[in-house]
Amino acid sequence: MTPTCQLRKWIGFWTILMALIGLVPTHLQGKELAASELVDIQSFVPNIQVDLKYATTDNFTGQIVYNFHCCLLLKEAALRLRDVQTELETAGLGLKVWDGFRPVAAQWKFWELVPDERYVSDPRKGGRHTRGTAVDLTLITKDGQELVMPSEFDDFSEKAHQDYMGASDEAVRNREFLREVMERHGFIGLPTEWWHFDLIGWQNCPPIDFTPQ
Ligand SMILES: [Zn+2]
Repeated sequence: MTPTCQLRKWIGFWTILMALIGLVPTHLQGKELAASELVDIQSFVPNIQVDLKYATTDNFTGQIVYNFHCCLLLKEAALRLRDVQTELETAGLGLKVWDGFRPVAAQWKFWELVPDERYVSDPRKGGRHTRGTAVDLTLITKDGQELVMPSEFDDFSEKAHQDYMGASDEAVRNREFLREVMERHGFIGLPTEWWHFDLIGWQNCPPIDFTPQ
């Protein structure tokens, strides 16, 4: 069961007013984007599976990194994931999500455990997952079985790279299919992590200082 999330509204009166009359200065345009609402993706994508690894000890840190079990993303990202899921369902497949929005505090916790930019984004630079635009996921069958991929989630070896060809043909085919369908619906993959995708334009969305309750 996924607990209901209490979501905070992020759209301030003055931001809306300034946006409506076209007076949002260039340096604030990122803040305007971040003011969009975070949504629980399961309310937008009913059949998507969510298994947040960092809400459990089943992750590379061996620790619970955050204490909520709903996957939050900016609404635009959730809507695009809905399109991906709809297309996959016509092929008897679906998505399983391992991580979405990550509070800035959680990013700091990662950094304290693993202060190495090869594996974890430096929170002072703003982690990708703190913007509500990044998602970690894989493909599953309609019965919920994960399709074989070249590596496990959070494998920090070259097996996780998008161009790694040492895996089975089936695993390479599945990885490339996932990337193709995600990129066709407005996401962009990460060369070193086959499971990670960012909404196109993510750089314009600053980290959101919010911790779900
Ligand atoms: Zn990721």
